[in-house]
Amino acid sequence: GEFVRRPLIAGNWKMNMDHVQGITLLQKLAWTLDDANHDHNRVEVAVFPPFTDLRGVQTLVAGDDLDVVYGGQDLSQHDSGAYTGDISGQFLNKLGCRYVLVGHSERRSVHQESDETLRAKVEAAYRHDLVPVLCVGEGLEIRQAGTHVEHTLEQLRADVDGLDAEKVATLVVAYEPVWAIGTGEVAGPEDAQEMCAAIRAELTKLYDADTAEKVRLLYGGSVKGQNAAAILRERDVDGVLVGGASLDAGEFASIVRFEN
Ligand code: PGA
Repeated sequence: GEFVRRPLIAGNWKMNMDHVQGITLLQKLAWTLDDANHDHNRVEVAVFPPFTDLRGVQTLVAGDDLDVVYGGQDLSQHDSGAYTGDISGQFLNKLGCRYVLVGHSERRSVHQESDETLRAKVEAAYRHDLVPVLCVGEGLEIRQAGTHVEHTLEQLRADVDGLDAEKVATLVVAYEPVWAIGTGEVAGPEDAQEMCAAIRAELTKLYDADTAEKVRLLYGGSVKGQNAAAILRERDVDGVLVGGASLDAGEFASIVRFEN
């Protein structure tokens, strides 16, 4: 089909790939896409390596003029100061990051990040010219109770509260049902579409249709080469956020080259 919004295929490496492995993976990905005559205008390809890989990724992308963008997996809500162990959006910007993940379910659960904190992180990202990839989605119990749409929209509203329309138009929202992350359990294309349509409708209500039509909505959760195309064919799904399958260059490249 035709795309109104340029699809974003994003690889979240999580806490995998040290700086040497990360460079090797990115080189392999670039070769694989080149060999396949990948059309760079068709989709945007992004990777989210660990912080310690970012300098190496920057050097490789700039030195070899790779058509891959990258971002951090998290950022601090603060700009600098006494926050031991944290990474500022300012630092990510200086390393050439375009994006930053905000509120991945593993940050919400392992680090107890609240929607209030995430709202501040979204603001911090924009303060440093980074586009937040805001992750939302429900756990298994909520899915089974049937309140997944309500729950996910509640996260969305809290995390963008008071953000102006101009910023929201550039935002990326990733719907990642927690029960489908790393489990091999994939939400069906119709589940991804149901939630993405609900998110777009909510953004229309909070802002306006023009703004909502610009926001890119991704699906994440056990995406692979073999199921990506069906998910990406859905009207309101503008890309995928890939964990496990992004660690294999061939598999990730096959997602990038999905047939629509
Ligand atoms: P997965 O992870 O593709 O390994 O399920 C997705 C994510 O957590 O972003």
